[in-house]
Amino acid sequence: MTVHNLASHKLRQSLNEHSAATAPAPAVRTVHERIIFEPDLCKGCFLCIEICPRKAISVSKALNARDYRVIEFAPAEGGKPCSGCGLCAMICPDFAIRTAG
Ligand code: SF4
Ligand code: SF4
Repeated sequence: MTVHNLASHKLRQSLNEHSAATAPAPAVRTVHERIIFEPDLCKGCFLCIEICPRKAISVSKALNARDYRVIEFAPAEGGKPCSGCGLCAMICPDFAIRTAG
């Protein structure tokens, strides 16, 4: 291995170790067969709650890794379970909700 290759190998190794230490994988939740939610990407804007025609999303008690209060896929009062229509995924500005497939 040349000096240059050795240096780039060490740099890659160090970057990988750094990433592993500072970027834990976000908890991905499948909330419907078509809908996937990544709480750590949510910033608590609640646009998804506003748009959901079934009132299937509520404000949760949980804070995510960035200290934002996140949503949960639990029907609000008078609401119904998620139908997988995908409107919330379309409106989420942070891609915290996405459709599967
Ligand atoms: S629209 Fe996205 S960022 Fe905003 S509360 Fe819903 S999941 Fe979180
Ligand atoms: S997929 Fe449709 S029904 Fe399900 S939570 Fe999102 S907007 Fe509501």
